[in-house]
Amino acid sequence: MIVAIDGPAASGKGTLARRLAAHFGYAFLDTGLLYRATALHLLEAGGTPADAAAAERAAQRVGGAELLDPRLRSEEIGRLASAVAVIPAVRTALLEFQRRFAATPPGAVLDGRDIGTVVCPEAEAKIYITASLEERARRRAKELRDRGVEAIYERVLQDMQERDRRDSERRTAPLRPADDAFVLDTTALDAEAAFVIARDYVVKRRDAR
Ligand code: C5P
Repeated sequence: MIVAIDGPAASGKGTLARRLAAHFGYAFLDTGLLYRATALHLLEAGGTPADAAAAERAAQRVGGAELLDPRLRSEEIGRLASAVAVIPAVRTALLEFQRRFAATPPGAVLDGRDIGTVVCPEAEAKIYITASLEERARRRAKELRDRGVEAIYERVLQDMQERDRRDSERRTAPLRPADDAFVLDTTALDAEAAFVIARDYVVKRRDAR
């Protein structure tokens, strides 16, 4: 059973995906980490996203303990991740790892931008989770402050808008709901309400198999 969760930054997809995985006893993969780890390898090798071959080599090294590195969570790495994510060779290099993970029995939950459209188009359950730009910026600013990072709402909003634009407008695997995805707008929902709706949807899809 594959559960694909896609959506823009700070839509609540990570929280939701983790809870669904725990609830159903499925494996969980935050695929954003793979792009972030690529960015980190690239940075450490002294490369930039302008060098597609260096970025591809960085992606080929992904898949080990670096996925647990706390530096992956920084905003700087997030920005760099979205820059390397536009490179088709990077996306291809990360595909196999994700597909192998998705095959974990008895099921796997993957969250990202292109899980339902490109990585696992055959997924039995696909959720596209979203929320207004302002609400997502508010959540991200709060999350940063809770972690002790100084965050100015306007800056966070601007950054998020830029990231949305890059993720949605890129040629390869742009951010968009799969045609058969269940679209869940969480602008006016808290995490618990979103979880209950998503859980019921996954149960229905699982039982329909
Ligand atoms: O979700 P997260 O913010 O960690 O992702 C970082 C960046 O990685 C995103 O802005 C996006 O450009 C890229 N990404 C992607 N496809 C995925 C997951 C993340 O392009 N499946």
